[in-house]
Amino acid sequence: MIYKRSSALFVEAQTVIPGGVNSPVRAFKSVGGDPIFVKEAKGAYLYDEDGRTLIDYINSWGPMILGHAYQPVVDAVVSKAQKGTSFGMPTEIETDIARLAIEMVPGIDKIRFVNSGTEACMSAIRLARGFTNREKIIKFSGCYHGHSDSFLIQAGSGAVTFGTPNSPGVTEGTAKDTLLADYNNLDQIEALFNANPNEIAAIIVEPVAGNMGCIPPKNGFLEGLRSLCDQHNTLLIFDEVMTGFRLAKGGVQELKNVKADIVTFGKVIGGGLPVGAFAARDEIMNHLAPLGPVYQAGTLSGNPLAMAAGLAMLTEINTDKDLFKRLEEKTAYLHKGIELALNRHGVVHTINRVGSMISVHFAEEEVVDFKTAALGDNDTFKKFFHGLLAEGIYIAPSAYETWFITDALTYEDLDTTINAVQKVASTL
Ligand SMILES: *Cc1c(COP(=O)(O)O)cnc(C)c1O
Repeated sequence: MIYKRSSALFVEAQTVIPGGVNSPVRAFKSVGGDPIFVKEAKGAYLYDEDGRTLIDYINSWGPMILGHAYQPVVDAVVSKAQKGTSFGMPTEIETDIARLAIEMVPGIDKIRFVNSGTEACMSAIRLARGFTNREKIIKFSGCYHGHSDSFLIQAGSGAVTFGTPNSPGVTEGTAKDTLLADYNNLDQIEALFNANPNEIAAIIVEPVAGNMGCIPPKNGFLEGLRSLCDQHNTLLIFDEVMTGFRLAKGGVQELKNVKADIVTFGKVIGGGLPVGAFAARDEIMNHLAPLGPVYQAGTLSGNPLAMAAGLAMLTEINTDKDLFKRLEEKTAYLHKGIELALNRHGVVHTINRVGSMISVHFAEEEVVDFKTAALGDNDTFKKFFHGLLAEGIYIAPSAYETWFITDALTYEDLDTTINAVQKVASTL
């Protein structure tokens, strides 16, 4: 048994932490087996508690776009820590990172920092409701916006994996204010507007979906949402927690040239520390307390360590002119290699990719929404996952997840990965 120590640690963890994990997808429920405990990581590699080295395609679910323990980020955090870790008072670095984010992202005048993507999306919804004086929101099946009540109506990712799309504990009262549509389906949105005139505060969408595998918006989908929102005085919220600072400096707004009214961030913006943020033009952001009536707060919001990590990260992304091109090229190379390997062994599959987000679906049909993502063969995925793991390649332990490509990956790492896929494909 290779994972003796990890399994022993998991047994211990389960005695004091529900399911042994602090976030459900980590528990390997959908692929079987015990989760791997990580000891440390550097660049593109994880070093686990059993002494193995793994090539990492999760990268903390997105944040480590430049690789683990990236030196400028580590240095920024260490030097800040020596000067005190939290004050509950304003600090200059909060303005510095806010200014940089506003410079990088189109259409935002002000930004507020919180501690997670969940908090960012939850706050964005409250702000949209406060601004429009309306109560209902629309979300798309399979899009994930964190675990706040309004979104656990039929979430993707963890909730799907666990077969509890409607979590107990979410009240009927909350559920009735969240309307659902299929991703890439504008007709359903139009129907929802017609059935709920002047009632919809906001549409929240992953502008490139990443929590049911990677699903690109069809041509005209985001533009269609924009124009329907304009027509109905509804705010369009782009949840760029995953895509922000990953697909382009300015996220999907820049990539697809479609403007959102409110944008949420997480993951990359914190450089691996717990950070989320939401941003909009002045007219909307000025509704927030203490300027306006919409309440939102946080004891550790704008925490100096988190801001230092985030600022170091965004500074690197902002100054590295070729970063997104390099990431795109590496991911395209991997895409091509995996495709050839799977084809050679006649493994039915569909690969979706946008920039440095890529997902392999064991399904014949094009994957365009949650329903088509759910057609993937989970038994094949399990074999694929465990086969790759045995070869030292660590992908997300769920068929509904995207692989996150980091700039720390070398072409040699990519070739190692493609060879592993080739080997595993022959057993599928
Ligand atoms: C990860 C994610 C969230 C939730 O962020 P947390 O930091 O895990 O709370 C929200 N939206 C999207 C699109 C995400 O990928």
